[in-house]
Order: sequence, then C-alpha cells, then structure tokens
Amino acid sequence: VPARRITLDPVDHLLALDPGARGIGAFFQPGGALRAARALARARTVLIVTGFIVADGMPETDGPPGAAVLGRALRRLGARVRYTSDSATLPTLTAALKAIDEPDDVFPYPDGAGAADEVLARERPTHLVAIERPGRTRDGDYLNMRGISVTPWNRPIDEMFLRARRRASRMTTIGVGDGGNEIGMGNAQAALRGEGPLMGRIASVVRVDHLVVAGVSNWGAYGIVAQLGRLTGHALLHTPDAERRLIAACVDAGAVDGVTRARKCTVDRMDADTHAAIVALLGLSWGDPAPRGERQ
Ligand code: MG
Ligand code: MG
Repeated sequence: VPARRITLDPVDHLLALDPGARGIGAFFQPGGALRAARALARARTVLIVTGFIVADGMPETDGPPGAAVLGRALRRLGARVRYTSDSATLPTLTAALKAIDEPDDVFPYPDGAGAADEVLARERPTHLVAIERPGRTRDGDYLNMRGISVTPWNRPIDEMFLRARRRASRMTTIGVGDGGNEIGMGNAQAALRGEGPLMGRIASVVRVDHLVVAGVSNWGAYGIVAQLGRLTGHALLHTPDAERRLIAACVDAGAVDGVTRARKCTVDRMDADTHAAIVALLGLSWGDPAPRGERQ
C-alpha cells in the first residue's frame, strides 16, 4: 500500500510530536498554528485564558508558560494583552509572566451567571485565545484526562467563546490543546469520538475559529509565536533557558505536572530539558529571523 503523502510545514512537524502518547495524530490540525498566527498578527486587544486545575488546589504547569510567551509576542507586535483565569491559577500565571519580565496584567475571572458578558463588555477583546483551558463536554461537564469532573474548580470561562460564536460577534477565537478536553476541540469532534469511549466522553464541544493541536499545549502556543516571527520578521520566541525559568517559576508558585500531579519541574511528564529542546528546535530557523545574540 503506498503511503499517503502528508505535507507539514516545519512548525507543524514539531507540534505534531507526541512523546506523551496523547494520540494527537487523530486530531492534529495541519496549518493550525500558521492560521492562528495570521489571525493574531494585527490583533489590537487580546484576552488570553489558561489554567487547567486537574484536582482541588492543583493548577498544572501546562498552559501558563504558553500564555506568557504568546502574550509577550502579541504585546511586542502592538496589541493590548490581558489574562484571566481562576484564582487558583493566578499565582502560576503571574509567576510565568514575571519569569520573562512581562507585565502581569492578570485578573480573576468573576463568579456568577453574568460573568462572560461582564468581562466581554469591560475588556472588549478583538481576539480571545485559550491555551490549555477546560472546555465543556456534550453534557455540559468539564472532565480531566481520566474522565473525572473538574467542574468544581474551573469556572465556565468557555462561555465567552460560546458568546463569540454568535453571528453579531466580531471576536476572533483561537484554542490550543493537547488532550481533546480543552476549549477549541469542538472543531475536531468527529475525530475525537472515533478515539474510544473515554475520549468521546471527555471531548469538548466548544468550537473556535482556529484550533491548534500539539503534543503539549505550551508547544502549540510557542508554535503560534514561531509563525508570528516568520510572518512579521521579528524575533518573538523565547530561549531554551527562558523555558527552564518558566517551568521552575510555575512550580515554585504551586503548579503541578498535569499528568503525574507531582510538584516537580516537568510538564506533561516531560522534564525541562525536553521542553527547552523543543523551544530550541522551533527557534532554530523558522521562528527567529534575528541573529541568536539578539534573542532574549
Ligand atoms: Mg490538556
Ligand atoms: Mg498538557
């Protein structure tokens, strides 16, 4: 049987790596990072949401580093960037931003039925970005990768993305995920349901304009930054050393590995060297048009 020829761009090749065996081959989105970057390149007002609380009092290390690196890139391109999450994730998110000397313009997502309308009316974002953020299932629950409900600890921030899908809305939405249960995975519903009963149950129905899938969600955000670098000619990606600092800062602030739940410098069971290596590869020739000495 002749192999089907697939064409992936250099960033997609790295995002499609799945060392954690999450099964992303079934729902990977070729071109997703480039489409997201094109949509964000001239963004004016961006609201970034992140933070997956895997169990009571346990925010994870995947998400906030990606949010910080993407937010920094967009701010450098001229956008106003703010961040929101549950109170339990704010220390991690703030620590990630500080680790790369970025302003921590973070606010807690409010409680109550009117929260989405309240935040959208006040912030008036042109672009909404979710990085590793629980998205509701068909049944309206929020489930972790083991199929256990995380609804008590994760506020329904995905409501803003549902609002953005309405016809009168002009907001552009972007979702980054690695497990099928995050905001944006509604775009890949059919593929997710084909991946067995657990995936079918945890799969989110929340759709976005541009879905980015990666072996680790942080990598998906870095992939968008690498593509923004290609599109704009600016050096926007962080360094491998900064990646190590980001992970350590999150753990110091109380984050755990979302897979092992250990409070160690790992993200999705992979150590900081592995993540630094991915950043090095993304920056090698595609993400960074500037000489190495000028990178931060
Ligand atoms: Mg995930
Ligand atoms: Mg993850």
